[in-house]
Amino acid sequence: MRYLIRNAEAILAQGISSSATDLRIADGIITEIGQGLLPQEGEQQVDASRSVIYPGFINTHHHLAQSALKGIPAGINQGLGEWLASVPYRFWPHIDPELMLAAAKMGLAEQLRSGATTCADHHYLYHLNSSMEMEDVLWQAADELGMRLVLCRGGATVQGSHKGLAKAGVKPETLELMLQRLEQTRSRYHQAESNAMRRLVVSPTSLVHSITAEDLKQVAAYARSHDLKLHSHLLEVGFDEQQAQALHGCTAVEYAQRCDWLGEDVWFAHLVQATEQDIQLLSETGTGIAHCPTSNCRLGSGIAPVVAMEKAGMPVTLGVDGSASAESGSVLQEANLAWLIHRTQQGPDATRLETVLEWASDNAAKMLGLDALGALAVGKAADLVIYDLNDYRFAGVHDRQWAPLMCGEPMRIKASFVNGRQVVEGGEVSGLDTEALQQDVIEGIQRLYKKVDA
Ligand SMILES: [Zn+2]
Repeated sequence: MRYLIRNAEAILAQGISSSATDLRIADGIITEIGQGLLPQEGEQQVDASRSVIYPGFINTHHHLAQSALKGIPAGINQGLGEWLASVPYRFWPHIDPELMLAAAKMGLAEQLRSGATTCADHHYLYHLNSSMEMEDVLWQAADELGMRLVLCRGGATVQGSHKGLAKAGVKPETLELMLQRLEQTRSRYHQAESNAMRRLVVSPTSLVHSITAEDLKQVAAYARSHDLKLHSHLLEVGFDEQQAQALHGCTAVEYAQRCDWLGEDVWFAHLVQATEQDIQLLSETGTGIAHCPTSNCRLGSGIAPVVAMEKAGMPVTLGVDGSASAESGSVLQEANLAWLIHRTQQGPDATRLETVLEWASDNAAKMLGLDALGALAVGKAADLVIYDLNDYRFAGVHDRQWAPLMCGEPMRIKASFVNGRQVVEGGEVSGLDTEALQQDVIEGIQRLYKKVDA
């Protein structure tokens, strides 16, 4: 499909004069950005008046399974350790493929409606006897909705300290099984291209708790032999640091280095507890962060020092995290909160809107190795979002190009495109039966409680 988008109030394009109002898409690529572009034969026209055009956001840390685990009563006022036991580890071993599919579609749809076009999902529902169907449905959901999926393949090779898994009769995978299944996924789904719709990332659930040092080295070697990136949770709370000191006699970040888990091909979710010394080692090695401010607020974990990380040259990006601890499920909310929260501690020039936009788009594209994405420029992939400002809420906004990031949710999206294909139209995800989806989630949760309570 070819499109000509016209009359936008602003296009947040790279290296283009701010007077540009029009953008042309052909064969999945942005072919022209300018003013007064004339329609060509066969093009579909999209009117973007009273709208602004953003690059599609790239969410670098999520857990789609948790879209069906929002607001679990026991976990509402708990910190990470207790919350893990009473929410994800209590429920995930009982999620069936039908509910996983519904949760994935819901989570992806929520992200699309917030302005995202790529989701890096940290999917950890693997165990010794788990079915590959639990993973296949994620690829299926992303394919149906037309969103780019980076599957950060989680899992564990040690039992860990969470009794919920043992109680559910769930045993961890062996290293051999994890590697064998990774290879199966890689050969079936992974695309290496810079505009890939499907990517695989090697991502044991927790760097410190899910896997041994030797296994970490083995999975890192596997990833690097196939040019796959590496991702995990690290330093969300102080427990990782305590365990690293107690078990390995070094800091958690030094432990990561010893296990070959630092580098330009690695990023960690959270890093809330990173010290100055940690930031130095992370930045020297080019290791990145998925900053997840909503989840960190929700679980009372703290505020990650991303302003210092940015200054030190670390790749800073934004993640929503799972909706069991970030019920909003919105990348726009993360960007808005990331803009605000550091100012409370460091003053009103700590975070600029331009910088936060880079975290949510260009930085993330580079970190994931999806270089064709992340910016609006001629030759880049047509992943873009038209935010609709035709609402009294925005009538008083003066610097209108920043309205979505400054004003935050609720925002209505007139249209979004992924790889030049329209995926959101008039605020809704194209082709998605939302009534049927709601019903699938509700029924799936009813089945879930029967198994959890059994
Ligand atoms: Zn997470």
